[in-house]
Amino acid sequence: MIHPCLRCGACCACFRVAFHWMEADSSLGGEVPPELTEQLDPHRLVMRGTQAYQPRCVALEGTIGVAARCGIHPRRPSVCRDVPPSWEFGEPSPQCDKGRITHGLSPLTPEDWIRFREANAPKV
Ligand code: SF4
Ligand code: SF4
Repeated sequence: MIHPCLRCGACCACFRVAFHWMEADSSLGGEVPPELTEQLDPHRLVMRGTQAYQPRCVALEGTIGVAARCGIHPRRPSVCRDVPPSWEFGEPSPQCDKGRITHGLSPLTPEDWIRFREANAPKV
């Protein structure tokens, strides 16, 4: 069973994804690809596509709710790293729930993670 985020992508097409410009400045250690960003204000960038009326991050690949992934996962902004899937670490995640509901998906439950871990447990 694949990770639920790889069958989702909803939170990447729900919010404005804004972060400090230093995160896209390689001379300062930033790793976010600057060509995928645009200026929001003097201090912040946004991921392109996330300011739209119906946001969808330019880095999101695939089909929401079917098969989706972040095309820059190792280089994604800090705000993306800060959104955990609901219940993966024992707590609900309001952003995850809102993203999924916005796209017609059910919020994740603790039972989803029990099934995921059972399906991916090493076979003995
Ligand atoms: S909405 Fe939740 S399950 Fe979907 S990709 Fe985002 S964190 Fe993962
Ligand atoms: S950078 Fe990646 S994780 Fe962040 S919103 Fe875009 S597709 Fe999603």
